Amino acid sequence: MKRFLFLALLMFGGAVLITWIAFSDTGSKLPPTAAPLFELLGKPLKTADVVLTRAVLIDDLDEKKLGDAIALRYESYRDEKDPDWKYLQNLVSHLSENNKKGFEYRVFLLPDSFPNAAAAPGGVLFVSRGMLDLVESESELVAVLGHEIGHVELSHCMDMVRFELLARKMGATPLGELADLAVHIILSPSFSKTQEADADAYGFRMLLVQRYNPFGMANSFQKLADLVPDASRSPIEEYFMSHPYSHLRAEKYRSEAKQAEVDEYYIGEANLRLRQSRHEKEFPGEWSHRRDP
Ligand SMILES: [Zn+2]
Repeated sequence: MKRFLFLALLMFGGAVLITWIAFSDTGSKLPPTAAPLFELLGKPLKTADVVLTRAVLIDDLDEKKLGDAIALRYESYRDEKDPDWKYLQNLVSHLSENNKKGFEYRVFLLPDSFPNAAAAPGGVLFVSRGMLDLVESESELVAVLGHEIGHVELSHCMDMVRFELLARKMGATPLGELADLAVHIILSPSFSKTQEADADAYGFRMLLVQRYNPFGMANSFQKLADLVPDASRSPIEEYFMSHPYSHLRAEKYRSEAKQAEVDEYYIGEANLRLRQSRHEKEFPGEWSHRRDP
């Protein structure tokens, strides 16, 4: 009987927050893959929409329209009756209020039990249920979402998608097809270390501006690092993971949080537990003072 050890998780960002690697009991290693996410996303739902059939040249591809097309394709991952989805969407809508790109940010909740998050052009965020299970407070969740929003706002997503699509030298292509390609592209970890670092910084700033626990970012990274110790990965595995070295990033943001000039911050454990964002309900007990023991 085959025994699988899910090894590599994580990618805090742009593409897939977590990649997993399967080992068989013979010890032979399969290549790291984002397969679970691909499989899920391989079932787009809507094909008949006229918008999706319209042919577009890559040079003319507009980020907002591409985002709308992705949202249309995967809209079955938005269940408005699902408290988990509602919670995420409420949080993301507030976090992205007044975003510079003027996008309407939309969350898609994947049934995947692995902690995962990814951002696509036009303000489309994919989050797995496993991510909701991994974090222990709204602050930690905001760190993850802030990082993903950063990839969109800093144009990492659109730059990568455009670059990859241009390399394919395609002629005019239906928008629906481009949307699917874009999703596959953003799920293949290929953001640069600089882009990842910039998205981290973006997420961290969001914690400070919104007065969430500045340690939220370090805590999230630490949880990811604990899932898969970096030391157990080979350089090849690192290559396939867009968010390596979680322990280093946890360390960096622990030190940033210590230096941050914040007197009072909100943690939000109850908010996460009740799936009620701080914008819907603030619990006085979730405020913490810097000098509290
Ligand atoms: Zn990232």
